[in-house]
Amino acid sequence: MIKLKYRTGLKDMPSYDVVERDWDIKVNANESNMNLPPIIEDRLMARLASVAFNRYPNEQVELLAEQIADNFRLDKENILIANGSSEILEKLFFAFGGRGRKIVYPQPSFSMYKIYAKFSASIGVPVDLNDDYTFNASDFVNAVKENKASLAVICSPNNPTGTKIPMADIEYVAKNIDCALVIDEAYVEFDGESAMRFLKDYPHLMIARTFSKAYGLASARVGYLIADKKIIEMVGKACMPYHVNVLSAITADIVYQMRDEYIPRIQMTVAERKRISEQLSKIDGITVYPSATNFILIKYDKAVALNEYLENIGIGVRSFGNAPRLENCLRISMGTRPENDAVYKAIKDFVESQN
Ligand SMILES: *Cc1c(COP(=O)(O)O)cnc(C)c1O
Repeated sequence: MIKLKYRTGLKDMPSYDVVERDWDIKVNANESNMNLPPIIEDRLMARLASVAFNRYPNEQVELLAEQIADNFRLDKENILIANGSSEILEKLFFAFGGRGRKIVYPQPSFSMYKIYAKFSASIGVPVDLNDDYTFNASDFVNAVKENKASLAVICSPNNPTGTKIPMADIEYVAKNIDCALVIDEAYVEFDGESAMRFLKDYPHLMIARTFSKAYGLASARVGYLIADKKIIEMVGKACMPYHVNVLSAITADIVYQMRDEYIPRIQMTVAERKRISEQLSKIDGITVYPSATNFILIKYDKAVALNEYLENIGIGVRSFGNAPRLENCLRISMGTRPENDAVYKAIKDFVESQN
């Protein structure tokens, strides 16, 4: 037997742990609860007929970048398209990180930041959110300065807490740090307020977005970075040639063209989030955190047992094991109205059975 020489530290790398099974109600991954609108599906099927499968993708990705750039009155050189915002974030950690480099992000926040920090051989520096999961801008700025960080990451609205970071805080951070700053806006469509407005004044600020959540395109893995042209050029160096495939690029292109089709869905998700948040907060013993996303974070003393109960009746929500600051928390994505009702009822039944 040959002893294979894996990269140092690889064995101890955490995996992105997805416990998946055939849930009756799947509300564990912040996905959209609806497939493509039929009108978009029709267009996509027609467009697929003219794909040159023998050619590397280029034109289609450029078209998508141009379209996004036009919407923000920028140039296509301000846009980097990638395989989900996951690839964007990974490449940013790679481009600005490296041995001895420090990357600062809030805690709790998106679990992948810690993993990308490790993968890029950088040192991840988590900065605790306040007890109610609100953001402490001066703590964050101090951590960036004290650590002489090379990259700072802010997720707003934040996953998994759902909390929105006030625009004034984002500007305060941008103004007071002297390293690259990315705002992960994976859920911005559910809130409407974007840090895009700061791009002009703060060229070290970048925005990462995705088609996976509000646009329900998790299957295609498409995301993008909006930033200064020089940053896009540099981060692009970290990507493989032709990294985004043509099937995903044309799908995202059509979805973006027809994004107005998603407005009623987004509104419905927001209305459901409000309705279910209100109902859950009336259950004794459950804390509901204010959310600006398509999911709700709750805290409950017996969350572990509640999660088990939900699993047993076929409902998949997200629990965080012993992740820092997320003890006894469960994250519930919005499903269809009947699904949300069923999840609410199950939680209520369980809590009442405990009294
Ligand atoms: C879902 C998510 C992403 C990544 O989504 P992709 O599917 O890779 O585009 C990035 N950041 C946050 C906070 C997310 O929740």
